[in-house]
Amino acid sequence: MEFNDNYGVYVCPHVFKKESPIFVSIRDPYGDWQFFCDDENCPENSKPHLVGAGHLTQADPTINELTCLKPGSFAQKIHANANWEYGDLE
Ligand SMILES: [Zn+2]
Repeated sequence: MEFNDNYGVYVCPHVFKKESPIFVSIRDPYGDWQFFCDDENCPENSKPHLVGAGHLTQADPTINELTCLKPGSFAQKIHANANWEYGDLE
C-alpha cells in the first residue's frame, strides 16, 4: 500500500524545512500519521505542520512502508539508510 500524495500527515518543523530526514513515525490513537526528525525531544517540543504525504514519499519512498502502522504504534530508523523498526506506543 502507498500513501495518496494528497493525504494529509503531520511533520515536525525540521522535516518541514528539510533540515532533517524522517527518523521517527508515529500513528497516533486517532489514526493520524506524524513524522519527526532524529531529535528525541522534538515530538514534545515542536509544533507540527500539515503536509501532503507526496512531499515525504518523493524524498524517501520507504515512507510508504509505514502505511502498515496501526493506530497507537510507531516506527523508527537508527540511521537514514536503516530499515524501519516497529513498536507500540505506551
Ligand atoms: Zn524535529
